[in-house]
Amino acid sequence: MKGTVLYGPRDVRFEERDAPTIAKPTDAIIRISATCVCGSDLWPYRGISRVAKPTPMGHEYCGVVEEVGSAVASVKPGQFVIGSFFASDNTCPHCRAGYQTSCQHKEGVSTAQAPRLRVPLAEGTLVATPDMPPADLLPSLLTLSDVMGTGWFAADAANVQPGKTVVVVGDGAVGLLAVLSAKQMGAARIIAMSRNPSRQKLAQEFGATDIVTERGDEGVARIKELTNGVGADSALECVGTPESMMQALRSTRPGGHASYVGVPHGVALTGDDLFWGHVHLHGGPAPVRRYLPELIALVWNRKIDPGKVFDLTLPLDQVAEAYRAMDERRAVKVLLRP
Ligand SMILES: [Zn+2]
Repeated sequence: MKGTVLYGPRDVRFEERDAPTIAKPTDAIIRISATCVCGSDLWPYRGISRVAKPTPMGHEYCGVVEEVGSAVASVKPGQFVIGSFFASDNTCPHCRAGYQTSCQHKEGVSTAQAPRLRVPLAEGTLVATPDMPPADLLPSLLTLSDVMGTGWFAADAANVQPGKTVVVVGDGAVGLLAVLSAKQMGAARIIAMSRNPSRQKLAQEFGATDIVTERGDEGVARIKELTNGVGADSALECVGTPESMMQALRSTRPGGHASYVGVPHGVALTGDDLFWGHVHLHGGPAPVRRYLPELIALVWNRKIDPGKVFDLTLPLDQVAEAYRAMDERRAVKVLLRP
């Protein structure tokens, strides 16, 4: 089997790897229908996170179950399934509280840019769709594996409510789907911070009512201006840099909520930032598994179309070009088909 391996900065290869097999009775093997490149894959691709040895890549996936271990009863061969980037048992105290990405037995799923994938803890991790999906739903279903669930968590963790004002910091795929999520949750005003015309357009299609191009102090001033000097009820940080975190915190009104779902790189908050802001903070690796049943239903019934974030589709063997296109911001997000 050929699969994706990252050797070092900007060195992605599609090469022969061992095909996955059932290693534990709790495993499943799935045949990938669609996978993609994540914004977080770009951190090691760009050399910002170090790659110590050749590393198989990919953690967003959906596909058809081929084989299950003897302890897996909830999904069967032939079913179409979606799972999160962390496998979870869905039974421990953290899972039961809805934080499956903090599962006491969690295991990373990190080899999905390949034709076949081993999913550990399959019973707790995988959720089947009602039937085999029509082809046009594949992109939207794929987003539920990470990017859409992460945008949804950003909105949920920032307590987005009907009629409220929301700021979304970041115009990557997660930020764009955070806009869609805020819209679906009934926000009245959704301010998207973006400088890129094609991303601004997609943000507006997903429900953004205002676009702010300014950043830093000017960006905060612009948010204050748009909210009569008050600030937003909810601010959703979808990047992970110190600048984007401060943008989100300082855009939130006293008593408001800020969430953070971008993997932090160099973010540090002072006691003063926390003390004087009067802001509720919540975030982390999105517990995508919690939202899968609800989001599958929304996609299945065509209430949301998060698959629109994919603006390029390539055959899986051209995965190196997919990374290049996202690195150079020629594409928002690239879907890969085995
Ligand atoms: Zn658990």
